[in-house]
Amino acid sequence: MERIILLKLGEIALKGLNRRSFEEKLMSNIRRRISAFGNFNLRSAQSTVYIRCTAGEEDAIDRAFEACKDIFGIVSLSLAAECEKNYDSIRETALAFLGDSLSFAQSFKVDAKRSDKRFPMNSPEIMRTLGGDILSKYPHLEVDVHNPEMTVTVEVRDFAAYVHGEKVPGAGGMPVGSAGRGTLLLSGGIDSPVAAWMMGKRGLEMIAVHFESPPYTSQRAREKVLTLAGKLTRYTGRMRVFVVPFTEAQLAIRDNCPEDLFTLIMRRMMMECACRLSEKYDSHAIITGESLGQVASQTLGAIGVTEALATLPVLRPLIGMDKEEIVQISRKIDTYETSILPYEDCCTVFTPKHPRLRPRMADLEEAEARLNKDALIEACLAGVTEYEPLYD
Ligand code: ATP
Ligand code: MG
Repeated sequence: MERIILLKLGEIALKGLNRRSFEEKLMSNIRRRISAFGNFNLRSAQSTVYIRCTAGEEDAIDRAFEACKDIFGIVSLSLAAECEKNYDSIRETALAFLGDSLSFAQSFKVDAKRSDKRFPMNSPEIMRTLGGDILSKYPHLEVDVHNPEMTVTVEVRDFAAYVHGEKVPGAGGMPVGSAGRGTLLLSGGIDSPVAAWMMGKRGLEMIAVHFESPPYTSQRAREKVLTLAGKLTRYTGRMRVFVVPFTEAQLAIRDNCPEDLFTLIMRRMMMECACRLSEKYDSHAIITGESLGQVASQTLGAIGVTEALATLPVLRPLIGMDKEEIVQISRKIDTYETSILPYEDCCTVFTPKHPRLRPRMADLEEAEARLNKDALIEACLAGVTEYEPLYD
């Protein structure tokens, strides 16, 4: 009995002419994600992707199944047993594959879908007959068509028939890469990893930029960010991380600008650096983890003066969310425990005691005129180190 994975595709089925390229994107994302577990053969037909393991450990297919739960573009998944398209084979397979679960369940129903109309039994006949055969082997069971504990599904498709138990919900959204590429401003905090997950869900592939200020920020702070990026690749696929040395720029700001504007000037500089880097890596948006009003640098005024320097659209998927909602997602995607490790971020190194809440553009520009901004930005870009963390 061969076990295979059936994936039902989501929104991408709606995309008309683009559908083929969306499907290909999804298939290549899946391939990349599961290739470490063994060799797999993928095929797509009728809004379903079939994954078969051709070589690997016995649990390769189970590991691939777990991994597929996090891949965007999939609405639901099931682990199915494939069998020949005749009723005897379907019955034997159902009893062998789902016997254990059936013996523990109280109630069940059979669901059948016959897309191959040449199959001699129609769907209601398959349901009735298989239901009867299951009952005679497991007489303790009750049939409950409305609220069964277990649903046995039979699908008679083009090349074979498939039997499966529960369908589990997939991650939804669109295949990563189908919406282009963006640049994530990745700090070590709770918010920016969640922002990455949300934009990945909408099909954005990302590169990440992290600003650090050694020796005010430590090696461990950098490692924490790389760990976060590695964890994100489970959902977002490949994510190159560019670490930008920001100490010199921050010291220049501290020495030359009014204290209450430190954070904003620093943010504006980050924005310019990120936009410049994006050009080089063919990236077309900036993503941040900002949430309106969460801290002084996330008031409307502060967001406005930072965005004013952006040459690309700035996406802030968390803008309307409460911290509690953000934390919930970060726990779900398993970044929370890393995010709360207490290492410093360059944003917290020279924090003003009383940051300006309603900054005036003219004041910022006047303060920035005292810096050799272009040279500082050039130096930042020249000092970038690239990493490519992976999910283990
Ligand atoms: P986070 O939890 O993501 O760190 P935060 O609540 O601490 O966010 P801020 O420190 O104001 O808020 O940062 C707002 C956003 O600016 C972050 O979500 C991130 O996108 C970006 N950012 C902050 N610090 C850095 C950094 N050192 N490198 C890159 N981006 C950063
Ligand atoms: Mg932060």
